[in-house]
Parts: sequence; structure tokens; C-alpha cells
Amino acid sequence: MAKIGFLSLGCAKNRVDTEVMLGHLTRGGHEITASPEEAEIIVVNTCGFIESASQESVDAILEMARQKVVGNCRKLVVAGCLVQRYRTQILEQIPEVDAVIGTNEIPEILELCCDQTLKSNPPRYESRELYLYSDSDPRILTTPSYSAYLKVAEGCDHPCTFCVIPQIRGSFRSRPLDSVLTEARRLAAQGIREINLVAQDTTMYGWDWGNRLGLADLIRRLGEIEGIRWIRYLYAYPNNIYDELLQAMAETPSACKYIDVPLQHISRQILKQMKRGGNRRSLTRLLMRIRDKVPGVAIRTTMIVGFPGETEEDVHELMEFVEEARFERLGVFTYSDEENAASHPLGSKVPEAVKEERRQRLMKLQTGISKAGNLKLVGETLPVLVEGTSAESDLLWQGRLSTQAPDIDGVVYLNDGITDHTRPGDIVPVRINEAHPYDLVGTVVQ
Ligand code: SF4
Repeated sequence: MAKIGFLSLGCAKNRVDTEVMLGHLTRGGHEITASPEEAEIIVVNTCGFIESASQESVDAILEMARQKVVGNCRKLVVAGCLVQRYRTQILEQIPEVDAVIGTNEIPEILELCCDQTLKSNPPRYESRELYLYSDSDPRILTTPSYSAYLKVAEGCDHPCTFCVIPQIRGSFRSRPLDSVLTEARRLAAQGIREINLVAQDTTMYGWDWGNRLGLADLIRRLGEIEGIRWIRYLYAYPNNIYDELLQAMAETPSACKYIDVPLQHISRQILKQMKRGGNRRSLTRLLMRIRDKVPGVAIRTTMIVGFPGETEEDVHELMEFVEEARFERLGVFTYSDEENAASHPLGSKVPEAVKEERRQRLMKLQTGISKAGNLKLVGETLPVLVEGTSAESDLLWQGRLSTQAPDIDGVVYLNDGITDHTRPGDIVPVRINEAHPYDLVGTVVQ
């Protein structure tokens, strides 16, 4: 048995893969260590969906490779999305790497780590089967003790031209309802209070096995599980948001009134080039429908600026739309020109500096909109999930509203009212005293 160290990069879906690999290794008798120096085997679970993420992954691999010189590492394993894109190149160009394992080979991690003689992984580790974990897979959570991600599906069938995820993760497939519910009950029994449902497109949950209302049904069923206080789903696809889903959100007390729906742009010609469907009228109507059917909902979206052919008029229209839509949460990314994405051959590429200037202009606009939205909460008393001492200072605790997702949204700093009995995971009433563009400050009301 070996001491194994893990470095997990990328999104929440990749993090779940890490947790399943940790589960298989622990069940196989290996010891997991947080110290890279101590680790005899190091696994880097990579991200590779855009150039900058791929570079970050390569840097991390090289950094861990140093442990083969300065530490105890005798085997370096690379896993995840970068392997799906560049399996052969990694082995050829980074000699320190001993083995690679793709996203469809996750259960093989145990054998791969046990096989001391393995200098580089033979084909038998390269699975053609599309993998999706289930409740029978062991899993070691890496999130705080009160919150967990629950991956309900994998892969994607959408044709977004800027995206290579379908090539990396394969076609869409969702987990059986029983498997998800069994895992959710187990998480609740472990003390998990907040569940974040993730997939490339959560709104398509169940469609591949004939249930067009799959996600709505899942939310209602999760709402019946004792102990789960907050249910949130991320990565909704705008054209797949159906009324029964919004109804389930509105009628299920533990469903967070929060929706994460990446729109990516608003200009008709850009949305067409992106193969995202929709236009300003249909997306404006979508936002109105969401706000009408789910009172008090917080809408999070993401936009991509700098897509090939994007003009100043397109950006102007996007600014106008963001001003009108008043999203509670907005992330803006610059277009990444991925070599094997369908948009790569398009002409009229936008220079990096112009992309960045457009991103900053949109974020500046959103900062004011977000602050105005937060100011409306001052004086209100709202339920806050206590996270514990804040990253800012040991003297300060922090928490989140049900409309603040972990890792991507702001927090509520708790400047008073914390007692010896307050514990991370508690959901407590907090009077909001102060508003900042993304964060709030409040006092726990006893
Ligand atoms: S919905 Fe589009 S952007 Fe999202 S993973 Fe699928 S192809 Fe990529």
C-alpha cells in the first residue's frame, strides 16, 4: 500500500471524479496524504477545456514532478480532461509522467496505482466505454462537511461551436434516478445539508431515459430527504428550461431560489455563430418567465466576449441587455480559440487586448448592478449557511445565502452574533447590515 497525494483542478464535475478516485484508492487500502513531499504516488486530475486551463494543468504536473527529486514520489499519474485531449502528447513530452488515466477509466485508478512495474499505461487502460459513476462507487468528499456536489449526468450533446467538452466527455448520459437518490440519502446521513447538482447540462437530466421532466422530479424527490436543507442545480441550458422545472423550484421548500443559466451572448449573429439558439427576444422572455414563476429568484449567468466576428455594436447590445436584465450574478470570460473547436476556422478573430477590454467593461457595469441588488437586502433578515472562519481573517466568520453558490458567488461576512454553539453547516437567521458589490455583512440574530 502507498501514500497517495492528489491535486484536483478544474470544475466541480472534475472534483467529483477526484472524490470517486479517492474512494477507490482508500477502499483499496491506500493512504491519502495532503503532503506532496510525503506522497509516494501523486495523481494530478487535470482540466483541459481551454488553453489557459491546459497550461495551468501542465504547470501543476511539472510542479508535482519535482517531488520525484525533492520528495518521495516514485510514480506520477495524470488524470482528467487534459488526458482526453492530449493523452499521447503528455506521455511523449513530459517524461516524468509514468501513467495517464482518462475520464472514462476512473475505476482503473486503483490497479494503475498498484501496478508498480507499469512505466507507461498500455492500451488496456484506455477505455472506449463512456463512464458515469454511480452510488456503488466509493467516494471521499473533499468539500466542507455540510456541502457536496452531486454529479447527475456526464457528457454533452449540444453543438456550441466554441466548446470542446463534448469531445472530451462524450455524449450526454444521465444517472438513474434511484442511484442519485441513494447517494443523496447517504450524503444526508453523513451530515450534508447543501447539495449542488452538477452536469454539463443539468436541465437535460433524464431525457436520455425518456423523462422530459427528470430534473423537476429529482428536485421534488430530493426535497423529501430528511436533513437536506438546500438543493441547488448548476449549468442549466437556456433553451431547456421548462415550466414544470420552475414550478418544482418554487414549490419545493428546500430548493434554492437560484438558477445558473449561461447565456454566453445576446447578439443574434454571435448566438448564431455559437450555435447556441435563442435571441434577445426569446432570452428576455426566458428571464421574465423565470422571475415570474420563481419569486425572489437569483439568476446567475456567464457571457463570452471576443468571439470571432464580434463587433462594437454586438458589445454595445450586450451591455444594454445586461443593464436591462440586472442579473444577480454574472461571470464574463474572453473567448478562447481552441484548436479542435468548430469555431476555430472562423475569421475576424478579436485581438486579446480588445477581448480583455470588453470583459472589463462588462464587469464594471455588473459591479454597479450587483451592488444595487445587494443594497436592497440591507435591513432584511435572511437564512445563512455558516461556513466557519473567513478566508479574510480568523476573527471573522462567513456564510452564504441560498442565492450564493459555493466557490463562484460572494459570501456573507458575519461580524456579530456568533456563539460557542454556532457550527459550520448551521443555517442561521442573519440581519444584513452592509452591502458590497459581491459580498454582504450581517449579524446573526439569536
Ligand atoms: S452546453 Fe455547450 S458550452 Fe456547455 S458543455 Fe455543452 S457544448 Fe460545451
